[in-house]
Amino acid sequence: MEIIKNIFEMQGRAKDILGKNLVTGFVPTMGALHEGHLSLVRRSQAENDVTVVSIFVNPTQFGTGEDYDSYPRVVEEDLNALKALDTNILFLPEKDDIYSTDFNTFIEVKGVTENLCGAFRPGHFRGVTTVVNKLFNLVKPVRAYFGQKDFQQVVVIKKMVNDLNMDTEVIACPTVREEDGLAKSSRNLYLNADERKDASILYEAMKSVAEGLQNGDIDFQKAPHKLVEVLCKMEHLKEIQYASLYDPFTLEEVTDKTPEEYKKRELLIAVSLILGKTRLIDNLLVDL
Ligand code: AMP
Repeated sequence: MEIIKNIFEMQGRAKDILGKNLVTGFVPTMGALHEGHLSLVRRSQAENDVTVVSIFVNPTQFGTGEDYDSYPRVVEEDLNALKALDTNILFLPEKDDIYSTDFNTFIEVKGVTENLCGAFRPGHFRGVTTVVNKLFNLVKPVRAYFGQKDFQQVVVIKKMVNDLNMDTEVIACPTVREEDGLAKSSRNLYLNADERKDASILYEAMKSVAEGLQNGDIDFQKAPHKLVEVLCKMEHLKEIQYASLYDPFTLEEVTDKTPEEYKKRELLIAVSLILGKTRLIDNLLVDL
């Protein structure tokens, strides 16, 4: 596995690859890799000639009081996991190279960034779109792979790519879960044993609402109440930031006034909550 730390070297390598008419698939990550990340790497390897994985804990997407400093950094383990998969290139840029002291340009997507996580993490998506834009310029991928686990992130990045006519196809990949349904996440490392037990209720809550909607036991008006009712079974639950039904394209909350529309297409159940001190997000697409 080739390891590239220098941003200009990465850009040069990307040009070489393009010059040889080879296709690059790209998996941007913040490291502390788990099976969710690795599923994206495998998908990229199956669909492209060269797979580049980046590890960069992006400071601009963390707000004040968030976990930028404590975010897990386990580069040696990540390196071994990527080597074991025969990843072609690991891109490991330095913070000061990505953001020079006079850095002053940001990409901001309006609309789809404003509710759900955007409402609780001001500036988060601005940081995400800015860094993804920079990474795309350095890696020059034909395809880039993102997890549906961060559903809003995928919608926002697709919007940026479309609005700015960027030449990278954004591919959303299914959420990889633990046996009890908890979505794999680097932040699950923060949960203590009791909180980890509670955490499985998140998937249980979304699944029971999805099933209720599908078999007609729950209507659109009752769904958010049912979701909250099950989530409240968590002993260490501190806050529910959002838990409701949303349009998977606009991310607007779906109300009981519009049920017919969603009979023809999918509906998104999305949740964000604080368990102990850890923020967990998850979602499920429901085919009604
Ligand atoms: P992160 O390192 O958290 O920035 O995540 C890097 C990429 O991995 C993002 O596209 C995430 O959506 C994706 N990802 C994280 N967790 C999972 C998961 N459990 N299943 C699938 N993809 C995931």
